Amino acid sequence: MSNENHEIETESEKRPSLNFIEEIIEKDIADGKNGGRVHTRFPPEPNGYLHIGHAKSICLNFGLAKKYNGKTNLRFDDTNPVKEDVEYVDSIREDIKWLGFQWDGEYYASDYFQQLYDWAVQLIKEGKAYVDDLSQEEASEYRGTPTQPAKPSPWRNRSVEENLDLFERMKNGEFPNGSKTLRAKIDLASPNMHMRDPIMYRILHQSHHRTGDKWCIYPMYDYAHGQSDSIEGITHSICTLEFEVHRPLYDWFIQTLHIHAPQQIEFARLNLSYTVMSKRKLLQLVKENYVSGWDDPRMPTICGLRRRGYTPESIRLFAEKIGVAKRDNVIDVSLLEWCVREDLNKKAQRVMVVMNPVKLIIDNYPEGHEEELDAVNNPEDESMGTRKVKFSRELYIEREDFMENPPKKFYRLSPGTEVRLRYAYFVKCTNVVKDAEGNITEIHCTYDPASRGGNSPDGRKVKSTLHWVSASHAKDVEVRVFDRLFRVPAPDDVEEGKTFLDNLNPDSLQVLPHCKAESFLEGYEQKPLSLFQFERMGYFCVDPDSAKENRLIFNRTVNLKDTWAKESAKNQ
Ligand code: ATP
Ligand code: MG
Repeated sequence: MSNENHEIETESEKRPSLNFIEEIIEKDIADGKNGGRVHTRFPPEPNGYLHIGHAKSICLNFGLAKKYNGKTNLRFDDTNPVKEDVEYVDSIREDIKWLGFQWDGEYYASDYFQQLYDWAVQLIKEGKAYVDDLSQEEASEYRGTPTQPAKPSPWRNRSVEENLDLFERMKNGEFPNGSKTLRAKIDLASPNMHMRDPIMYRILHQSHHRTGDKWCIYPMYDYAHGQSDSIEGITHSICTLEFEVHRPLYDWFIQTLHIHAPQQIEFARLNLSYTVMSKRKLLQLVKENYVSGWDDPRMPTICGLRRRGYTPESIRLFAEKIGVAKRDNVIDVSLLEWCVREDLNKKAQRVMVVMNPVKLIIDNYPEGHEEELDAVNNPEDESMGTRKVKFSRELYIEREDFMENPPKKFYRLSPGTEVRLRYAYFVKCTNVVKDAEGNITEIHCTYDPASRGGNSPDGRKVKSTLHWVSASHAKDVEVRVFDRLFRVPAPDDVEEGKTFLDNLNPDSLQVLPHCKAESFLEGYEQKPLSLFQFERMGYFCVDPDSAKENRLIFNRTVNLKDTWAKESAKNQ
């Protein structure tokens, strides 16, 4: 897909000026609902690192609050101590800030454990909740099917007194894990399975990263989420589509408890091609060492994208381009790549780096002589100025830029042809030197001193311009070239007996240890995540390992053009 196509195809171009959530909000404001207040929240469960899907939700929630002069809370939905950890809390805070957002209040569902407990007691007293002794297996047998009503649990009609006593003893730790639950008493015949006496509390003898051993019963998502929204005065509780069927339950708790009623609104989650987004799967990739960590530059995590060289602006642009929809779809990852190119093209310092070097020797250039040539730092931004690049008799150019026996349309260097060296001179190839195995070790050429600066002295034209690095001034750098982590657009779609791991791309990381860079990059070891365009090669950023290892390591963010689109077009 070309850049132009993306612009035509993205939702944002076709979208009316308001998306459906903005329409709801503007109507609420007009109606004076919630006193015209807009208060959203971003509610991550601290059981993993944030990914690009979360970024969509973050941009949406913070974006709406900004647009309507409202507020956004960061709420950690920490109701499942088994999988949660402070490491995740810290990373989530860091990633949201990095994306450019600042939350108003920072809250934890666990702050509300006492309130939630008190409300549960209230529901028991009103005969709307009961302690159930069915095991998990029994409970699922009793549950029925969407067309068949559930069977009542034999414990459904316990007296209020007995329920109060048992619930308190659950809290006090008298019963083992899984032996009892607290369930809301709603409607066993409801076609919505979530309304068939959903579980409110389970017993889990497990330390919590914030409440320690204070609690051994923990609220379920459905019981905790809406009430947490309510306590915080949230007006619009935005979540992904799979929670649509939970909405009646969300509303039931709030109405039954007679507390502030936020409105739950569902939107389509982001699905991205060539990657997986479930935290469970991302965790598995990390734990089983398929990647180097959560911040491996091939991961769809925010920290992975950051280390890859993505900017907050590029991710926010992506969120804007994809818009919000009510129906699930899959976004082509090439749109994300287009967004980062768009941003980096404006920002990135240009440098010349030869990734697969071969020597180019200019026979008529004086030995031992060197000069400094002016190079443009960013043709898109004049204010970034120019720099000096060292030129001498022996250079490196890309091996791919030379062919001894070129096919017809090969316009780069070959015996007898003339090309421009960027910012430098016209050079004409005379001959090559090979080793015993026939590999080219040196390309020889002559230069035209009158073409200094790369300008034609007499109007004669050359068909291509090559980047180069002066051999004696070159700095050795390592470049890590990444390809998509998965070979197929939908890695989650697998045949029987296979898993998403079978779809991993075995060639997703290629390390080029001996690239040659111009001396401008001197010192950038200590400047992690600095962004560059390597002329003709793509966008690259300084990997944070550079500082640790005191040598320059670059990650390729993205190539200059969308080669995958070309590949798939060829195969059609
Ligand atoms: P997983 O199911 O992989 O654990 P999750 O959806 O449970 O992910 P949460 O931490 O609960 O992850 O998500 C926090 C918020 O981010 C929720 O409001 C959720 O709806 C939203 N979110 C998560 N994934 C996506 C996605 N792919 N696109 C848009 N929003 C998402
Ligand atoms: Mg969740």
